[in-house]
Amino acid sequence: EYDIDDVIACFRYYGSVAGTDAGRVIDTGRPGAISRVVHAPVGVCGLITPWNYPLLQASWKVAPALLAGNTFVLKPSELTPSTSILLMDTLREAGVPDGVANLVTGTGPEVGAVLSSDPRVDLVSFTGGLETGKRIMVAAAETVKRVALELGGKNPNVVFADADREAAIDNALTAVFLNSGQVCSAGTRLIVEESIHEEFVAEVVRRARQIRLGGPFDQEAQTGPLISTAHRDKVHAYVQAGVAEGARLLCGGFIPDTPELGRGSFYPPTVLDGCKTSMRVVQEESFGPVMTVETFTTEEEAVRLANDTVYGLAGAVWTADASKAQRVSEALRHGTVWINDYHPYVPQAEWGGFGQSGNGRELGLAGLAEYRETKHIWQNISPGPSHWFEPSQAGVQQ
Ligand code: NAD
Repeated sequence: EYDIDDVIACFRYYGSVAGTDAGRVIDTGRPGAISRVVHAPVGVCGLITPWNYPLLQASWKVAPALLAGNTFVLKPSELTPSTSILLMDTLREAGVPDGVANLVTGTGPEVGAVLSSDPRVDLVSFTGGLETGKRIMVAAAETVKRVALELGGKNPNVVFADADREAAIDNALTAVFLNSGQVCSAGTRLIVEESIHEEFVAEVVRRARQIRLGGPFDQEAQTGPLISTAHRDKVHAYVQAGVAEGARLLCGGFIPDTPELGRGSFYPPTVLDGCKTSMRVVQEESFGPVMTVETFTTEEEAVRLANDTVYGLAGAVWTADASKAQRVSEALRHGTVWINDYHPYVPQAEWGGFGQSGNGRELGLAGLAEYRETKHIWQNISPGPSHWFEPSQAGVQQ
């Protein structure tokens, strides 16, 4: 339900931006010369979206692409295309002219790869996994397309001893177990101050064990299944790799076999303690309900651990000390930093990653800029010769 509210908020926000920015008039310092920097559409945009939050991820691309005057071909994930198909109907009803908003369904290698390499496509905006993003960048290079990548994350949730304990524990759970961890910004890495580690983690585990798994029609369910059994097996393999590398499994870490859960691709909230940044389960995105726990004793160590990742999408810092909160948030190399909170965002503020979390921005004005060319128009209103090539007095010389 709140997904749809967010989709509406995205279109409303970009609607509110329409007509507010006609570019810049430049003072050229020359009488009779008018210089303007204006926006132009990029052209045909290939929009490739992931299976999670499918309509929301599509709307973050479709709304600014349309506002900037582009046409687009949307390729939703083959796993969750339905809401994007319905979005096309809504756009048609809203009066978007024929040929402007287009959708092609199909798999990544069949359709996504074509969009990334076809010379008629001017820009590819992609949200999805790191390895796919790399492939798209390579495919787009041949025709020097613009490429905007929104990739995965391995997001730190840093908790200092002076943080509001109840809020930090509650949000540590929401950060990673919401949607069974299938959120790019999931706070999978709990990085907690050594002095409160034992007590904090014990309470996180106590509550994690009580999270109720269930299908979409289970009114009591607090979180649902993973997207597929293949994905569940991948998540399980990451947990097993973590244990093999020395992590302590405190809860979860098994494939449920009860009558209700055994038939689906469920995986229980899992907590691995005693983790090191070198472990695969700490470095690589499992995209499942798996929390890894690391500890620190100094602020510098907390920052170092939080930044020790190839990703840089989002992270949080929990502390009652306002100046520490500011210092740490500025030191974090992540595109979104929450202080004493986790997950909220607004369409007015940019979303995107540092490092291998991507090279683009969505939402906000930077999210619109992705879909615009910048053009300089110079007009001389009293044209005359430049006198650069004066006819030679000595006659023509070859
Ligand atoms: P994915 O990379 O498997 O697929 C994403 C899209 O790319 C799908 O439409 C797929 O069909 C297409 N695709 C696959 N191979 C392709 C190829 N060779 N060429 C072109 N297109 C291809 O990702 P997923 O499993 O659908 O989504 C989960 C991932 O998305 C996670 O890594 C998650 O972190 C990331 N994600 C990031 C954000 C963000 O804002 N940064 C938001 C949501 C999801």
